[in-house]
Amino acid sequence: MKLQLNIQPLNTWLNINNEPLIISGPCSAETEEQLLTTAHLLAATGKVSVLRAGIWKPRTRPGEFEGIGSIGLEWLKRAKAETGLPTAVEVANAKHVEEALAAGVDILWIGARSTVNPFTVQEIADALKGVDIPVLVKNPVNPDLQLWIGALERINGAGITKLGAIHRGFSSFEKSSFRNEPMWELAIQLKTLCPELPIINDPSHICGNRELIPYISQKALDLDMQGLMIESHVDPSVAWTDAKQQVTPAALAELAERLTVREPES
Ligand code: PEP
Ligand code: MN
Repeated sequence: MKLQLNIQPLNTWLNINNEPLIISGPCSAETEEQLLTTAHLLAATGKVSVLRAGIWKPRTRPGEFEGIGSIGLEWLKRAKAETGLPTAVEVANAKHVEEALAAGVDILWIGARSTVNPFTVQEIADALKGVDIPVLVKNPVNPDLQLWIGALERINGAGITKLGAIHRGFSSFEKSSFRNEPMWELAIQLKTLCPELPIINDPSHICGNRELIPYISQKALDLDMQGLMIESHVDPSVAWTDAKQQVTPAALAELAERLTVREPES
C-alpha cells in the first residue's frame, strides 16, 4: 500500500539557510525579551532557517505554565521583523489557527497530543480550508503509525500541500534513557509509504536532555530525515518548560557545525 498525499517538495516552500534544515527556538515563549534575545542569537549563528516558539502549551497536568497565549504572536511578529526568520507555532484548535494566520505566522505545527485525536485534527483541517500555509504534523504520543498517517491525510485533504511530518518519539512505559522512544522504524515506514513526504526529526522531545541531542540528530540525518527541530533558549537553566532539553544558541551552533549531511546518491 502506498500513501497518496499531494505534496510540494520542502525546498519549494522553505528557504533553507544552511544544510541541514534547522528549526529552533524556545519550547515556550516566556517574555518578549527572552524570545527576542533568543531569536537574535539564533539568527546570528547563520544555522537556523525557522524560529519556533510554543505559545499555547498542552501540559500533561493542570497547574503548570500553559503558554503565554496570543500576546506571544506579537512577539513573534517582532522577532521576524528584526531577524528575518520565518516563524512557527503549535496550533491545537481552530481558534489558534485563526489567530496564528491573522498574525502572519509562517508555519503551523500540530503537537503530539493533538495528533492522537481525529476530531481535533479535523477541526484544525477545517480551519485551514482554502489557506496556503505549511503545516508540520508531529507523530502521536503513542506508537501508532495509522494515527500519524490519518492526521497527515486530514490536513492534506483540506488542501495543504506544503506538508511535513515531525518525528518526536513515542511514549513508553519502559524505563529508558530517552524521554520518548525514537522507534525509528515508524518514521522509516512512513517514509517508505510516502517517499515525497518531508520528515523532520525533533531530538529535543526524543531525548528529554541536552546530552543525547547530538547523537540523535546525527542518526536522523544518517537516516535521510530532511531536517531537525531543536529547542533552544537564551538561558535553558531558567526555562519555564522543558529546561533539561533546551540548548543555548551557542551550543546549537556548535552542534550544527559538527553534523554531517550525506551527499544524495547519484
Ligand atoms: C513542543 O514542541 O514544545 C511540544 C509540546 O512537543 P510535543 O507535541 O512533541 O510534545
Ligand atoms: Mn517542548
